[in-house]
Amino acid sequence: MSEYSFFGSVEKSFDKAAKFTNWDPGILEQIKQCNAVYRMHFPVKIGDNIEVIKAYRVQHSHHKLPCKGGIRFAMSVNLDEVMALAALMTYKCAIVNVPFAGAKGGITIDPKKYTPYELEKITRRYTSELIKKNFIGPGIDVPAPDYGTGEREMAWIVDTYVSMRPGEIDALGCVTGKPVTQGGVRGRREATGLGVFYGLREVCNMPDVMQRLGLSVGVKGKKVAVQGLGNVGYHSAKFFQEAGAIIVGLAEYEGAIWSNDGLDVDAVFNHRKKTGSILNFPGSQNFAKSTDALEMECDILIPAALENVINGENAPRVKAKIIGEAANGPLTPEADEVFASKGTLVVPDMYLNAGGVTVSYFEWLKNLSHVRYGRMEKRFTENQNRQMLEQIEEISGKKVSEKEREEIIHGPDEVDLVRSGLEETMISATREVMDCWKANPQIPDMRTAAYVVAINKVGTSYEELGIFP
Ligand code: GLU
Repeated sequence: MSEYSFFGSVEKSFDKAAKFTNWDPGILEQIKQCNAVYRMHFPVKIGDNIEVIKAYRVQHSHHKLPCKGGIRFAMSVNLDEVMALAALMTYKCAIVNVPFAGAKGGITIDPKKYTPYELEKITRRYTSELIKKNFIGPGIDVPAPDYGTGEREMAWIVDTYVSMRPGEIDALGCVTGKPVTQGGVRGRREATGLGVFYGLREVCNMPDVMQRLGLSVGVKGKKVAVQGLGNVGYHSAKFFQEAGAIIVGLAEYEGAIWSNDGLDVDAVFNHRKKTGSILNFPGSQNFAKSTDALEMECDILIPAALENVINGENAPRVKAKIIGEAANGPLTPEADEVFASKGTLVVPDMYLNAGGVTVSYFEWLKNLSHVRYGRMEKRFTENQNRQMLEQIEEISGKKVSEKEREEIIHGPDEVDLVRSGLEETMISATREVMDCWKANPQIPDMRTAAYVVAINKVGTSYEELGIFP
């Protein structure tokens, strides 16, 4: 393990923000600590061998229940990382008003080294370990996808849970990010990327903030570079492109590509699928190192891969005016200091990438209510809209086109409601964090302001629970 401690860096950011709050040091200490850490080893038969698999689940806080947070499959998974990510989940949920406490899980494996059958065995065994220790359940702790996992793994988890808890009516709510056919919600897949877009769009719509950065108001025409074309990076880039931004750079493990005229995100995605590499995309310039993309000229830089990619060493060379942290922890505290002194706006991970957990919350609610969003009101709304439109047409003597008619009448589907709930959440959270920052000019950066908002909310929860009279 490297000397750098991710949890240490979260603690550092926490302490920096705690100075701007009035909580008792005991409450602050309780908020900061990880409440429960479960490290496990279990055997799985892989081919002719028995492999001992190392895995974790960390519940950072219990100020609300259930705990919530993704599960990562990667060789880099270690206790320090899982603790840090669990802590970030607590703060993230608090900022976006999602009533969960933070958790995170991980299995130290390279998922590419296993067949789907072997991965299924590992995932199911991990789930039964969590069940044995009461570390999973719709009212206890609800995992979700993270780096290296997706809908398929969540389907294995829910199936294992349901089969071991027969008759538990809310069992589907034991995990989120499931396929729609297994109790998932429409709109979860793109949620984190869309949340990143909504959050950054709100920042770009703030005239005072844009003026300070020397940028025009709005997303249209902004030059955007994205590092990582996984689920989060791909969707962030795609929503920016759809809103009229110019995607000038895209980066993956194998290198980066650049074009000042703009890259078509889907075309690049398909090119990578076909050739196995992002490089040599027609009309673009190649860069050998993925990290080169971080230092190119652009307005908004979105690191959407792993933690610690921008540090004290390369931060001075980053030219973007806004950094949108789509990944968890892509900047070290040293990088934060460089950007604060340069006047670069860092929009912090713990609220900017909260779109995933926000829509997970909607999925969990759907599972508990046992009804699809929109089912009860879609037709009712459409009938009302149709009647209203007919009245207006009759009074005005004018008729709208067939396309306009469809748009006006349309009652909400599940995905419409999920996206609208996400948009509301991200706009409100952005404003709340910005307002906190503006109210206290001593706060050095937006991350610290986000921590202050989070600490105040978690502190209030503890106070209201009466744990600290
Ligand atoms: N893994 C995602 C995150 O870090 C989603 C967590 C969730 O949906 O619970 O926010």
